[in-house]
Amino acid sequence: MSVFWGDKRYYSINYHLKSRYGQRVQNIPIDAGFTCPNRDGAIGVGGCIFCSQKGSGDLAESREMSITQQVNSRIERLSSRGINKYIVYFQAYTNTYAPVEVLRQKYYEAIADERVVGLAIGTRPDCIDAEKVRLFSEIAEKKDIWIELGLQSIFDQTAKFMNRGYKLDCFDRAVRLLHQNNIKTVVHLIFGLPHETKEMMIDSVRYISEKGISGVKFHLLHILKNTRLQELYSAGGFKLLEKDEYVEIVVNALENLAPDIVVHRLTAEAPREILVAPDWCLKKRGLLNSIERTLAERNTWQGRLLKSSARGYD
Ligand code: SF4
Repeated sequence: MSVFWGDKRYYSINYHLKSRYGQRVQNIPIDAGFTCPNRDGAIGVGGCIFCSQKGSGDLAESREMSITQQVNSRIERLSSRGINKYIVYFQAYTNTYAPVEVLRQKYYEAIADERVVGLAIGTRPDCIDAEKVRLFSEIAEKKDIWIELGLQSIFDQTAKFMNRGYKLDCFDRAVRLLHQNNIKTVVHLIFGLPHETKEMMIDSVRYISEKGISGVKFHLLHILKNTRLQELYSAGGFKLLEKDEYVEIVVNALENLAPDIVVHRLTAEAPREILVAPDWCLKKRGLLNSIERTLAERNTWQGRLLKSSARGYD
């Protein structure tokens, strides 16, 4: 296993953070009080069809609290478990959708505690511009920073179906701008979107793999309460992936992912109270074990199918 990443056959975020900081680093998901241009009418209304009432920030702290209170509240709970370093994750809604001075104030508030080693900022590519990238560069001189883009799929027909509100060229432009300024980019993909074949899902992986990004988050398509997706699902509009199918897709995705891209997530997470389906995704440990077992049984690893690529292993 020496060519792999610790005991894993993929480059996990835990392995990356432990190598960088010498100890465990925990995410603190927060809700910094933003909205989203795909909800308020600036770009669209209704939002992406899978997005929850809390702007996909259901595991974040409450927006009723200040950023400082949210960070302190989570640190208080985690430090008793021996964790001393943290990344504040701006998770809910679109976290670059405000004037740059508002962003600066919020980001600096989040990094004020010296135990916070970095920021992860979830956003949309159409809410990234040169002025905001200059702010990211300013923060990058003090702490680590990752910009997380919710692409989900490279296919414009899928983007239209899920009401994402931007096309692939918009994503490409934002990634180029971030890359030119040495800002680390993490891309989210969803596996199991209606009307997508397994080949299309792997095409998305191959595409982002060539973009010079630093990380990925793979998500299972799950159905959350009070979403447009729930209405379509209840009407019998499409079928969800079974666990075995998802495991197979993730393993194939890892084989097609460049080995220098950090894997931040292998599945989606949601609170039990708002999950409609599938039930099996609640057993996250079992799912991760199945993925790791399948990688071992196939004697495969991240990037194995990129042998011809300069970034793949021989
Ligand atoms: S861009 Fe993000 S916050 Fe906005 S609707 Fe889509 S998933 Fe939700």
